[in-house]
Amino acid sequence: MIAFERKEGMMPICPHCKKDIAKVWFDELKGDLGKRCVYFCPECRCCLGISQRKGLTMGL
Ligand SMILES: [Zn+2]
Repeated sequence: MIAFERKEGMMPICPHCKKDIAKVWFDELKGDLGKRCVYFCPECRCCLGISQRKGLTMGL
């Protein structure tokens, strides 16, 4: 079992540039698979993750 412990007030650190992530930049990507949101670090612009936006892929 893995214990999940909630930590509030802790700033995440970018896995690429090791700087505190006080904010996350995001932008929309439009492609063949619909709209995705890409999240990236404002310091080094490395991609932190991509998520699919629900509700925007209708009609495909
Ligand atoms: Zn970074």
